[in-house]
Amino acid sequence: MSRPKTFRNLVTGGAGFLGSHLIDRLMEDGEEVICLDNYFTGRKKNVSQWVGHHRFELIRHDVTQPIQLEVDRIWHLACPASPIHYHSNPIKTSKTSFLGTYNMLGLARRVKAKILFASTSEIYGDPEVHPQPESYRGRVNPIGIRSCYDEGKRIAETLCFDYQRMHSTEIRVLRIFNTYGPRMLFNDGRVVSNFIVQALNKKDISIYGDGNQTRSFCYVDDLIEGMVRLMNGNFPGPINIGHPNEIRIKELADLIRNLINPSLKIIYKDLPSDDPIQRQPLITLAKKELNWEPTVSLEKGLEKTISWFSKEIENTYQINQ
Ligand code: NAD
Ligand code: UDP
Repeated sequence: MSRPKTFRNLVTGGAGFLGSHLIDRLMEDGEEVICLDNYFTGRKKNVSQWVGHHRFELIRHDVTQPIQLEVDRIWHLACPASPIHYHSNPIKTSKTSFLGTYNMLGLARRVKAKILFASTSEIYGDPEVHPQPESYRGRVNPIGIRSCYDEGKRIAETLCFDYQRMHSTEIRVLRIFNTYGPRMLFNDGRVVSNFIVQALNKKDISIYGDGNQTRSFCYVDDLIEGMVRLMNGNFPGPINIGHPNEIRIKELADLIRNLINPSLKIIYKDLPSDDPIQRQPLITLAKKELNWEPTVSLEKGLEKTISWFSKEIENTYQINQ
C-alpha cells in the first residue's frame, strides 16, 4: 500500500497562537513544516517542542520582504491579531497585510503551491446583518483605529481572489471569528486572556463599555480542524469558522470569574472606538462544504485555557524565585 503524500508546508506566523497549534497538528500528521515568523507577537517557545526534529525548520523572516522557498502548501497567518498589537504600529500592520499577502501569493504562484489565507470576522466591521453570512459585505470604517487591520484583511482577500482569477492560484480564504486557548499572550489585550490573567492575579476584571456587546468564542482545537479541512478540500471560500454561540462580554466576565474566583470585582472602562456591538458567525457554509462545526463548549474550553494560564503563571513565579 502506498503512503499518503507528505506535503512541504510553510506556516507564516507559525510561532504565534494559532500558527503554533497548526504546526502541532501538521507535525503530528507526519507533514514537513517550515515555520516562518518575525517574532513580533510570536514566541520561539511555542514551537520549541519541534526544534531539532528532521521534519521541522524555523526561519526568522518578515513577510513584508519576498522570500524564495520550495513548498507545496502555504498557510499564511502572519499578522498581529490583537487590537493593542495591531494598533501599536498601524502602518506596519497594513504593510504586513498587503505586502505580506502579496509576497506569499507571489510565492504560491511561482511554486504552484496551494495557499490558505487567515482572514477575519473583522472584515464585516460593525455589522448590521446578524448573524453574519459570507455573502454580507460588511460595514467597516476605512479611517478609524481598527482600519489598518480590517481594511488590511479586506485588501488581502481581494488579492487572493485576483490571483485566483488572473493566475489560477489555488486559494483558500478562511474568515476566523474570535478564537481562544492556550498560548495566547499574557499581555495580548484580547478579552479571554485579559479576564483570565486578571482573575488568576486577583485583580479587578475590566469590561470595556457596558459589557452588552457580544462575541462568539471558538476553542483553538475546533478552529484548527476547520482550517485543515478547508486546505484539504476543494472549496476556495471565503468561509466563516467560529463558534455560533453568542455571548455578552459581561456574561463572559461572570463565567470566568465564577470559574476562578467569584468574589472578584468588575470595573468598567471606556469602550475603544469602532468596537463592534455584535458578532456571530453563520456557519451553514462550513457545515455544508467542510462538514465542520465546533465540538468544544465555552465552559470546557475556558477550563482548559485557565488550566494552561495557571501553570504558566506558576512556572514564571518559580523561575523568578
Ligand atoms: P498572533 O499574534 O499570536 O500570531 C501572529 C504571528 O504572526 C506572530 O507569531 C507574529 O510574530 C507573526 N507576525 C506578525 N507580523 C509578521 C510579519 N510581518 N512577518 C512575519 N511574521 C509576522 O495571532 P493569532 O491569534 O495566532 O492570529 C493568527 C492569524 O489569524 C492572524 O492573521 C490573525 O489576523 C488571524 N485571526 C485570528 C483570530 C483569533 O481570534 N485568534 C481571529 C481572526 C483572525
Ligand atoms: N474587552 C473588554 N475587556 C478587556 C478586553 C476586551 O471588555 O479587557 C472587550 C472589547 O472591547 C470587545 C470584546 O471584549 O468588545 C472582544 O475584544 P477582543 O479584543 O478580544 O476581540 P475583538 O474586539 O477583536 O473581537
